[in-house]
Amino acid sequence: MNLHEYQARELLGRYGIAFPHGGVATTPAEARDIAARIGGGGPVVVKAQVHAGGRGKAGGVKVASDPTEAADHAGRMLGSTIRGLAVERVLVVPATTIATEAYVGLIVDREKQAPVLMVSAAGGVDIEEVAGTTPQRIQRVSIDPRYGLLPHQAAAPAFHLYRDATLARAAAELMQRLYTAFYAIGASLIEINPLATTPDGALVPLDAKIVIDDSELPRHPDLVELRDPQSEDPAERTARAAGLSFIKLKGSVGCCVNGAGLAMATMDLVKFYGGEPANFLDIGGSSNPQKVVAALQIITADSSVRAILFNIFGGITRCDDVANGIVQATRELRVRVPIVIRLTGTNEAAALAILTQAGFSAVTDMDQAVERAVYLAGSEGTP
Ligand code: GDP
Ligand code: MN
Repeated sequence: MNLHEYQARELLGRYGIAFPHGGVATTPAEARDIAARIGGGGPVVVKAQVHAGGRGKAGGVKVASDPTEAADHAGRMLGSTIRGLAVERVLVVPATTIATEAYVGLIVDREKQAPVLMVSAAGGVDIEEVAGTTPQRIQRVSIDPRYGLLPHQAAAPAFHLYRDATLARAAAELMQRLYTAFYAIGASLIEINPLATTPDGALVPLDAKIVIDDSELPRHPDLVELRDPQSEDPAERTARAAGLSFIKLKGSVGCCVNGAGLAMATMDLVKFYGGEPANFLDIGGSSNPQKVVAALQIITADSSVRAILFNIFGGITRCDDVANGIVQATRELRVRVPIVIRLTGTNEAAALAILTQAGFSAVTDMDQAVERAVYLAGSEGTP
């Protein structure tokens, strides 16, 4: 789950990381009022609140010299799109005079199987380029979650950033607070970029990005409220509402599978036969035809899908329920691409009868089904 910058700032504020205080506006007039209140009539920054990085380069971060200009910027941003995402809110904060911009981030590193702190003196809007071309300019510290980010571990990257001892100490403290927050909220990523310094030697975080691991959310009901469904991908929204695990991929074979392991095996087999999966989709172990309807809804909404492959291994999931779901879904939705069905296991015979009666054919052999789906996905559109 992605948080907006204004939410991330507020959340990190609870862990003692102080951002310049601002306000969120949904209209230009509100932006003007906030600017007048916080900026004392002086310069403010107007920031589009969308779940995208690189807003600065895309025109989503603008300095305004007075409240009227702040209203102008807000007027241009609100209702527009930044990197394809609709801007519904802007954050208005007092402008900070920047001397230096550093990057501080925390991620869960799957290879190291540990949280990793990443720090670079080359922060700001070009950090992605730094990571790509000069990765040695990013310092990494692996963290043992049993102990957290220890003081000496934070001191090293902090002194790497700042020669000034007061600044370095402040940065080390900020990194430790950041890790405390990261662990407590179950984040998979937290970034502060830029972590700025001012000409008079203050350390000021100016932007925050937080991604919370969806699997942590049941433990954090208060954080669930921060979800902004409006700014999420419609397919992922539908999937979550229906209780499906869904990940969009780039290929053309839409996959509808029960069980995460079988879903991965199916994707492997699609690739083995020369195809590309359009998605990972696990309808789970339940016997609910409605889930199949939701799954087909998501897959058919994807215009790059050229064939749909059902791969169902009936255990707790009953094949006849899935068959009913397929029949029901194809009645409700206009499916314009071929469907290949493989099912085997619990109530397999009943399922085959249901499908045959509805005009579908189904097989029990996985290789056969996958090969056929890949063939159909590739041959469609060619003469
Ligand atoms: P992002 O592009 O989405 O990461 O948005 P940021 O909030 O990081 O802003 C992008 C850039 O705008 C920063 O790297 C700064 O250079 C600049 N910026 C942001 N806030 C301020 C500010 O208060 N004062 C000044 N002078 N520049 C700012
Ligand atoms: Mn940023």
